[in-house]
Parts: sequence; structure tokens; C-alpha cells
Amino acid sequence: MLEQLREVVWKCNLELPKNGLVKMTSGNVSGRDPATNLVVIKPSGYSYEEMTPAHMVVVNLEGDVIEGDLLPSVDTDTHLYIYQHRPDVFGITHTHSRYATSFAALGQPIPACLTTTAMLGGQIPLGGYAPIGGADIGQEIIAKIGSSKAIIMQNHGVFTIGKDAKQATKMAIEVEEIAEITHLALLRGQPIMLTPAQITEIAELYTHNYGQVRA
Ligand SMILES: [Zn+2]
Repeated sequence: MLEQLREVVWKCNLELPKNGLVKMTSGNVSGRDPATNLVVIKPSGYSYEEMTPAHMVVVNLEGDVIEGDLLPSVDTDTHLYIYQHRPDVFGITHTHSRYATSFAALGQPIPACLTTTAMLGGQIPLGGYAPIGGADIGQEIIAKIGSSKAIIMQNHGVFTIGKDAKQATKMAIEVEEIAEITHLALLRGQPIMLTPAQITEIAELYTHNYGQVRA
């Protein structure tokens, strides 16, 4: 079932350790199939090295396991809450990547002082503390993420969203890079913030002209 999506979600999950975003079994990526609304997600507590596409778990939006021998990620309810409330989202990535999560520990959003931050929609917002594993985190994400593609969850980590699992995972890698550079800048002074007009201009450029798309 959903072989292609299983393959994509599996590959995206492998990008997390490859890019130094997770240690051991933490972190997870999911993808939603536009045709059936079924969600493919990483199994709970399973090592990245041993994982294959067949280990991915298929769940419906209500959280019932439709296919898979393993239990889905403990964050499944959070992913499902986001999918239920954001029909435009077809991929979600969650990590505790180090620099971004240091902003979570301080309860700080990541300020918009880089063009790459503007590409994600400007300042990366902060969501309040919520117990892990449930819909509470999902509610907080939906309430605070706005038009951003990423959110820092206080005392916890990062969630990124996208039009598919690949895009959400790319954003997670981008957020960590932004967090590291912003952290280094903050150590040496007061970063120069982008203006709202600059952020809009950069975001527009990214949406319409980035990559191999010709306008
Ligand atoms: Zn987490």
C-alpha cells in the first residue's frame, strides 16, 4: 500500500541523521497521500539504520493503523492534528536539532535576520509548552505557525511543514542552518533585522523563481 509514499517518507527520515538533526531514534517525518488522505509515518523508537520502506506505518487521519506491523511514532497524534487542520500540508518533519532547540529552551522565536529565514516566511515563530505526543502540541502549532513553514516549540524542538515530506524535511535542514548562524551572530552583537517589505520580497522570489521553475 502507498509504496511510492513509503519510499519517499523512508528516504526523508534517513535525511535526519544524515544531516545531523537527530540522535538515536528521535525525530520523525510523515507524508500524506493526497488521493486517500492516509498518512505514512516513521515507526516508534526504531533505529534509522535498520529501517526500510516496509517498516513505515500507514495510519488514517483518526489514528487507526491501516497497514504496518510496528507502532507509529509517538508524535503521530501531533502530525494528524496538523493534517486535519491544514489541508494545504502534505508533509511534516519533527526534530530536536541542536541549535534550533536551544532557541526552544530559551523560549525564543528565531529572528528574521537572514534571507534564508525570509524564505521560510520571516521570523520562525515560537509555540508554547505542551506535553509531548498528543494533540495539545498540534493545537499549539496550528494556533501559532501562521504562514511560516516552521515553528519552534518551547522546551522541545522544531516542527516544519510542507507541500510534501521532501519539502518539510528540506525546511528542517534549513531551520537548523538558520538557527546555527543566528546563534553565532547573537554571540557577537545585535543582528540586523530584515524589514517586513524585504521579507515579503524575498519570500515572493523564493515561491516563484527558485530552483528550475521558469516564470
Ligand atoms: Zn519531540
